[in-house]
Amino acid sequence: MSFSPSIAGLSAALTDLSNTLVTPPHDAFARLGGTFFTRLPAAPLSEPYLAGFSAGTAALLGLPQGIENDPGFIDLFCGNATRDWPAEALPYASVYSGHQFGVWAGQLGDGRALGLGELEHGGQRFELQLKGAGRTPYSRMGDGRAVLRSSIREYLCSEAMHHLGIPTTRALCVIGSDQPVRRETIETAAVVTRVSPSFVRFGHFEHFYSNDRVDALRTLADHVIERFYPHCREADDPYLALLDEAVRSTADLMVDWQAVGFCHGVMNTDNMSILGLTIDYGPFGFMDGFDAGHICNHSDTQGRYAYQRQPQIAYWNLFCLAQGLLPILGEQHEESVRGDKAVEDAQRVLLGFKDRFAPALEARMRAKLGLEHAREGDDTLVNRLFEVMHANRADFTLTFRNLARMSKHDASGDAPVRDLFLDRAAFDAWANDYRARLSEETRDDAARAIAMNRVNPKFVLRNHLAETAIQRAKEKDFSEVERLAAVLRHPFDEQPEYEAYAGLPPDWASSLEVSCSS
Ligand code: AMP
Ligand code: MG
Repeated sequence: MSFSPSIAGLSAALTDLSNTLVTPPHDAFARLGGTFFTRLPAAPLSEPYLAGFSAGTAALLGLPQGIENDPGFIDLFCGNATRDWPAEALPYASVYSGHQFGVWAGQLGDGRALGLGELEHGGQRFELQLKGAGRTPYSRMGDGRAVLRSSIREYLCSEAMHHLGIPTTRALCVIGSDQPVRRETIETAAVVTRVSPSFVRFGHFEHFYSNDRVDALRTLADHVIERFYPHCREADDPYLALLDEAVRSTADLMVDWQAVGFCHGVMNTDNMSILGLTIDYGPFGFMDGFDAGHICNHSDTQGRYAYQRQPQIAYWNLFCLAQGLLPILGEQHEESVRGDKAVEDAQRVLLGFKDRFAPALEARMRAKLGLEHAREGDDTLVNRLFEVMHANRADFTLTFRNLARMSKHDASGDAPVRDLFLDRAAFDAWANDYRARLSEETRDDAARAIAMNRVNPKFVLRNHLAETAIQRAKEKDFSEVERLAAVLRHPFDEQPEYEAYAGLPPDWASSLEVSCSS
């Protein structure tokens, strides 16, 4: 094959990239050794094609512009290129365990994900991981594959979350294939390349705890501390300090999720990032009409992971993490009291979740309502808004977005939000109190609206938008995936030309079901 000079340049960049990936830095996860993962090449993917590409993620990694057009790009990120990698540098599937739906599930692991290695750019390091790249020793009954539908959803949502300012793994690209994959129906395979500083989950710690591998537990905790929280090393108990970091970042993540109506759908401990990132996009959903008990995962019959339960579940998951860390906690205490002290310490740190979450959520809600200074009774005002929204199934995103159009002087700007409520009288009663509260604010309407529009997105990845893009993609038209991704990169901007993407969902959207099947 002969390349034009610019393509040759890209190919050279790809060669550099593969070389970097196969020789990760000394403190990379891939250097932890065989206790933590199994190395193997990706399974072959036939006739792969590019179905989605994030220029933003590519730039984050320092990849040259246009690299997605190089045939070597697809070969690498569908996994096919990894068959030529040296044995000691093959991709790796890591082992972890976890609690699924509140029950200990034992060993799980990367059943369809393979780590490629790390890239450094601009002083930041990122791990790259192929999701859907074939069976691994941790696949259990699974086929190791992911379908195009769920891969596009992961790609779109991780991009959307990032641009909403919510910590998340990112996606570089989606590579599709006509290779069939059996789910409820026959679908086709895809591989999504995920990018994250780390893919370590609570379940990684639980795994070594449950296997009584205290040495490995310590190695893993040391890895996370060295790479991400070096200041923990200075603490009396570095591993307790690590738990504290997880508590805080997870509490902050819950504030972010609740504030935009995001439901994860499968908050099992193996889907909880030690860095507090949103990870493992499966049956997630942004709420349309507000329902406090909204369950986005059709398979979650008990509603364990319903919207309003997410913070409590995160807290529960942190207890699992703390338990996993117990064998290495409290080493600074006298041996005779160490066990009891470690439990006491962990409990204290865990309680910090509530101290952090509640005030942070209050502050965020105040910002969403455009209230600059805290006042007695603000929480009641917020709770009453949620009650009226719930009773009316008022659209979550539009309610908050349109609040900015209300005036503190009169009802002239009420209509856009008021029209979302069937029970107008109930809305008006709340709106009168809100207006009274706004009149205590010094900011004028215009300044308040600008501030509110920075925290209340106009565009979120509604299910029906993803579905439309997916249907087109199944016919090999990826333009809607890219258009939608582009809209979601500016969720707080007006983008009047994309008004349709901000509208209420069409009637057919209510019949969309999202299950664990991906
Ligand atoms: P999830 O609920 O999607 O986070 O997955 C739970 C566990 O099942 C993880 O260990 C996954 O790697 C594994 N898994 C999910 N889907 C598949 C699949 N199609 N093939 C192999 N393993 C899978
Ligand atoms: Mg998972």
